Amino acid sequence: REIKSELIEKAIAQFQTEGNVKSYGRYGNGHINDTFAVVFKEDVKEKRYILQRINHSIFKDPEKLMFNITQVTSFLKEEVKKLGGDEFREVVTVISTRNGNSFYSDSEGSFWRMYLFIEDASCFEQVDKPEDFYQSAVAFGRFQKLLSAFDASGLYEVIPDFHNTPLRYERFLQVVKEDKCNRAKEVKDEIEFFIKRKEDMECCKNYLDEGKLPLRVTHNDTKLNNVMIDNKTGKGLCVIDLDTVMPGLSLFDFGDSIRFGANTAAEDEKDLSKVSLDLDLFEQYVKGYLTGCEGSLTDTEISMLPHGAKTMTLECGMRFLTDYLEGDVYFRIHREEHNLDRCHTQMALVLDMEQKWNEMNEIVAKYR
Ligand code: ADP
Ligand code: MG
Ligand code: MG
Repeated sequence: REIKSELIEKAIAQFQTEGNVKSYGRYGNGHINDTFAVVFKEDVKEKRYILQRINHSIFKDPEKLMFNITQVTSFLKEEVKKLGGDEFREVVTVISTRNGNSFYSDSEGSFWRMYLFIEDASCFEQVDKPEDFYQSAVAFGRFQKLLSAFDASGLYEVIPDFHNTPLRYERFLQVVKEDKCNRAKEVKDEIEFFIKRKEDMECCKNYLDEGKLPLRVTHNDTKLNNVMIDNKTGKGLCVIDLDTVMPGLSLFDFGDSIRFGANTAAEDEKDLSKVSLDLDLFEQYVKGYLTGCEGSLTDTEISMLPHGAKTMTLECGMRFLTDYLEGDVYFRIHREEHNLDRCHTQMALVLDMEQKWNEMNEIVAKYR
């Protein structure tokens, strides 16, 4: 992903900044966009910005994506100001171009944007201690709370039907039927596993359609390294990486966080005896999330948190199986049957959640 310096410098010059560029370079450990830190010098003062080239092959419509981001960050800023917070540290600040746009599209068809650099804060790559997981839960809960009065129906679905689990289920059945690679006969039990849990997978979406769960703003990439932690306080400061902000259910963000964050094994672990739901981590996340949400979730949302975790795990496992049946066309594989291994870990996690279902519900009840 080499990018010519002329292109980077031309992009930098489009945005409303002051002073002169002192230096710039690749920054951070993001896997999606090309991220640069740019240092400007104004007299003696230095000021940093984040410059990003948006991943156009994943995000087909950067204009809609930037619309979502500007809408959500403007709203967040107003809320943070009302609470007496610092909007420039607690919310991502989009720097406009000199023409007043939220992004710049260059002559090669790339899309660029600039953010204020959030100083004196860090992103952690992995959960080293339960406290890290707790802090990210508080940050994502607070994000949800601050946006609870925002009308999510006005946002674009950047990836349409991303968590439309019933639709993904239909697609799965179709792929099983077509069986292009003649693999279905090897994975009969796996197919049966998901068919048996059809109702589980439909439940969240049905509740949304029936008005029993509210449409919310969802983040959809609730990894630890998408939260900035304040260097002084050690607390979650700001949720970043807003590319996949979309309308959806709070249960999706919560559930996916549990799916990847509270599993005791890696997503592609072959030894399934290592796969389980870590109830301590689950408790940390529930506690953090509900603390951050501060009463903004409905009773139904809270009581369905375990269901969110199960649904996201089922959906993900079913997607791995679908991809395996289709010949590994979506998820990049690094070994034979990699997608099948990934499917197996998600199934094992679902089974463990079913074992621990009462405990999961008791934990939620404790913090509601
Ligand atoms: P990706 O989608 O590629 O993960 P991110 O928006 O998460 O892109 O940015 C990649 C990394 O850049 C982040 O993990 C973080 O370390 C850093 N970063 C992004 N935005 C900011 C910001 N406003 N201030 C400081 N660092 C940032
Ligand atoms: Mg990121
Ligand atoms: Mg991202």
